[in-house]
Amino acid sequence: MLTIEHSKSKYEQAKKHLAGGVASSLRASMKPMPLYAESAQGARLRDVDGNEYIDYLLGFGPLILGHANEELTNSILAAMRKGYTYGLQHDGEIELADLLVDILPCADRVALSGSGTEAVMLALRLARAHTGKHKIVRFTGHYHGWSDSIFTSFPGAGLSESVTSEEASSVVPPGTMGQSVNSLNDIILLPWNDPDVLESTLRSHASEIAAVISEPVMCNSGCIVPKPGYLELMRQLTEELGIVFILDEVITGFRLAQGGAHERFGIKPDLVTIGKAMGGGIAISAVAGKAELMKYIDTSAVSHLGTLNGNGVATAAALATIRELAKNNGSSYRRMEELLVSLSTGIRVLLHKHNIPGVVNQIGPVFHMMFINEHEVNDFDTFNKRDAGKYAKFAELMLSEGVLLRPNGLWYVSTAHEQADIDETLLAIDRVLGQLDEAVY
Ligand code: PMP
Repeated sequence: MLTIEHSKSKYEQAKKHLAGGVASSLRASMKPMPLYAESAQGARLRDVDGNEYIDYLLGFGPLILGHANEELTNSILAAMRKGYTYGLQHDGEIELADLLVDILPCADRVALSGSGTEAVMLALRLARAHTGKHKIVRFTGHYHGWSDSIFTSFPGAGLSESVTSEEASSVVPPGTMGQSVNSLNDIILLPWNDPDVLESTLRSHASEIAAVISEPVMCNSGCIVPKPGYLELMRQLTEELGIVFILDEVITGFRLAQGGAHERFGIKPDLVTIGKAMGGGIAISAVAGKAELMKYIDTSAVSHLGTLNGNGVATAAALATIRELAKNNGSSYRRMEELLVSLSTGIRVLLHKHNIPGVVNQIGPVFHMMFINEHEVNDFDTFNKRDAGKYAKFAELMLSEGVLLRPNGLWYVSTAHEQADIDETLLAIDRVLGQLDEAVY
């Protein structure tokens, strides 16, 4: 039984002056309630009640080196001792830009920001400036941050194979109260992994479409990989039709490979947005891409602003993280992948053993686990058939077993995780699956 008395009283205290009681809306969804961290080290996190967890939430993705990694911490501390932010330029920015251009296959040049949301805003702005067009194609089930111009909810989940491009472009609901409805007038929302809808829409609206933005793997909804040839088609059509192709690698950048998903898949988008893992847990993001697009920033024709952009702490964190990941020829990626293959395979075996229908979609050091009566989940409509309540209950029960999970099903692993953590996790899953059908949720 999980004791969370201290977390409970802190949450009550927090709600008084901290709107929502949490600092990012999504965190409120954790069951039985948002927990309070005391400290964390490596793959383990301890809460304020003294419970210790093997952590697969990993700060929602950035902690690719685990918590409080020594090299990263030392680099951050060294940077802080020299001053945190100058409002002037410094070597860290030059070194980081050089390193990113060296590692990311699509990058001629880069621009630095603070969050994934900001990087996406800049990428869209560059695309509109370059093409002189205004519409943006995005896909149901993908997430590109919470700015008004891109944030949507997804009744588009009903969009079927036979959707026409006119229908697709007319159904774009806002993601939140308070969002300007007009801000989405330029969005064309399409089902993902459907080559025919993509081709017909791009061809019929080419004169208006500035950019197509896509996650390379649909990490935000089921960790669904692109169909063979789908991203290639996206690349080919956008090039042919004068549309900027943006891959949103905020999750996949420095996670699926050093050079992100576009390296792994051998695709060269015009722009990529990266964040999360790039900073190892410190706020930093980047837009990287073709010189002919990035050049608009040179003359400030496209404004790229931010008081703390490229600050010394953030650039030191990114440099240390990227250098750690590059050690031994990037062998940590192979290790993380091996661990997650062992974990996801183990989970499939346990689902079978307990006769609980479910799917685990894994690629590299990230996977999505869901309870669903399907053998495969390859699109957003199928993903929506999962039993999300059952999974939230599963994640809640896993806390009592000392495993911290994201309540929506997405798991990350870090370089700090070891096979012993995976073995312990599988034993915990075995016990929890055994009680799951009796659990009320
Ligand atoms: N793009 C993608 C693909 C994301 O997954 C996220 C965050 N989950 C964002 C953009 C927004 O990043 P941030 O939360 O740093 O603003």
